[in-house]
Amino acid sequence: MMQLKTESDLLLPAGIAVSGNAESQLACRAHAELPHAYRTPFARDAARILHARAFRRLAGKTQVFTRLPAEGLSDHFRSRLTHTLEVAQISRTVAAALGLNTELAEALALAHDIGHPPFGHAGEKALDRALRAHGLSFDHNLHALRIVTWFEERYPAFRGLNLTLAVREGIVKHSRDYTAEDHPELAGYFLHQLPPLEAQLIDLADEIAYLTADLDDGLDSGILALDRVREASPLFRGFHDAALARYPQAAPRLAVYEALRQVLNALVTDLIEEVHARVGALGATVLADIRRAPQRLAALSPQMEAERIAVKEFLYASLYNSPGQEQEHIRAEEVVIELFQRLMAEPGLMPEDHQAQIPTEGLARTVADYIAGMTDSYIVQLWRRCSRG
Ligand code: MG
Repeated sequence: MMQLKTESDLLLPAGIAVSGNAESQLACRAHAELPHAYRTPFARDAARILHARAFRRLAGKTQVFTRLPAEGLSDHFRSRLTHTLEVAQISRTVAAALGLNTELAEALALAHDIGHPPFGHAGEKALDRALRAHGLSFDHNLHALRIVTWFEERYPAFRGLNLTLAVREGIVKHSRDYTAEDHPELAGYFLHQLPPLEAQLIDLADEIAYLTADLDDGLDSGILALDRVREASPLFRGFHDAALARYPQAAPRLAVYEALRQVLNALVTDLIEEVHARVGALGATVLADIRRAPQRLAALSPQMEAERIAVKEFLYASLYNSPGQEQEHIRAEEVVIELFQRLMAEPGLMPEDHQAQIPTEGLARTVADYIAGMTDSYIVQLWRRCSRG
């Protein structure tokens, strides 16, 4: 496997990266602002996301394990915040190696999970189910857009964070494409075109971060057995065998960490090389070529894609849907659905600034917005209080 040098030899043609020039269309903001003396528009956006309340609340939201005090829960398991920081690190690495806009990639990585409700995917599923009874649905990408364009209040001059067009487009499109027919409200985000590579790579960086992290936390929690991980992932097994052979005296867990580190590195390197190869095969030289490509160009090679799918299937069967986790999901869904119904019946239980949204957004969406912003511990506290009341 090819080794990355400090000076990457996998740089893409310069015209493919999103320009950080404050004059460019993608650096435009809904409310005009003076340029900063020494920061680019995307560096400012990354900082705005980092300083947002919704970002800080990610510390109290489930990645895999809930953030509630429970027996066996370690403080060092990932929260959605530490997962986000790992995605940001991988995204910066990939963007830098390819000569893409690292500041844009970082801003998008920091925002990629900001729209997640409490209790991870169980919470998202429950909130979606509750809304569907009212003819609506919940989508964490679209919720993230609502957070950065409306809910965050930090500026006297406008609501939201007033992020650049490139960051808003990337928030909407980092993991899926939307059609203008289904989402007329997204018409300004080039729905008939693919997003820039800086946005496309976030989904893969996310997958790489959580698959390797979840093997780590899954083994650490005792839910995953080492021999099962070795069976499920030939890539892990190869690196683990090599680590055991090279460091026979090392503590067993250090050989596991070494193997996980190598798996992460191999996936990231493969992503960089595959994007480089696909862009080369297309003959793309400018961003417009990426936008008009027949499909997304950020992808793993077929061999690594097979590995990714095998590890993901293994994690679904053995960790995410393990009996202990299933119990947690059922409880999480009960809490979300019961609190949703309670707030629908008694909107006066919501804070006044949320109640003020009801006339424009409708009651069901307002309740969902309020619940989506909660941390795991806050929703449980409120649910207990409401259940007693
Ligand atoms: Mg994520």
